[in-house]
Amino acid sequence: MKKISWNHVFVALTFFVCIGVICWSAVRIDTAVTVSNPAPENDFTIVLDAGHGGIDGGCSTADGKTEKVINLNILLSVRDLGRFFGYNVEATRERDMSIHDKGVTGIRNQKISDMENRLAIFNKYGNSVCVSIHQNTFGDPQYSGAQMFYSDKNPSSELLASIMKDKFVENLQPENQRETKLCGSELYLCYFCENPSVMVECGFLSNPEEAAKLTDEGYQQQVAFTIFSGINEFVSQSA
Ligand SMILES: [Zn+2]
Repeated sequence: MKKISWNHVFVALTFFVCIGVICWSAVRIDTAVTVSNPAPENDFTIVLDAGHGGIDGGCSTADGKTEKVINLNILLSVRDLGRFFGYNVEATRERDMSIHDKGVTGIRNQKISDMENRLAIFNKYGNSVCVSIHQNTFGDPQYSGAQMFYSDKNPSSELLASIMKDKFVENLQPENQRETKLCGSELYLCYFCENPSVMVECGFLSNPEEAAKLTDEGYQQQVAFTIFSGINEFVSQSA
């Protein structure tokens, strides 16, 4: 009897799982919204940032689920969609971590180093679009809905933020009337980015209904798809 090579079985299984995932993704995308791929130029890069990480959890839900985890889950899905559609995609972090320089001590210094390194990645690629992903919080739990912030450092950032807001209204939040706002230097990464950039506050963790959605993996994927659609639309309009 011919002996089965488990290596070959493993390779075959991996292959079929990959094909399955690609088909499933394509069907999901096809049934959700049609994406017209603007065929990005080879040197065009999407740069993504998942806010917070490591000891900095960001804001949290009433039951202690942290923003940093939600931001990262959304980033990883946007990254995969971007690569699937042929974009170069870079990220400030792809794990739960701070990206401060080695040897920097003290929480405050580590935070400064982390933010400087994130900004260096945002400003690294000339032909790029940069998106920072965050969740919001407020004392009064009634407030909900995504909100976009942009800087006047790059004249295209306002258009990017406005397209992103429209995609959230179109795909997820038809009632959303939140104003898209010009940010100040308190939003360090957004403010000092020299490339087209937007800070996406996906929703409020202080609102129980929205927090339940934002901690749900399926909704996180819808948010990721919405962000990717915004980027794709911006690239189409800028071409
Ligand atoms: Zn945040």
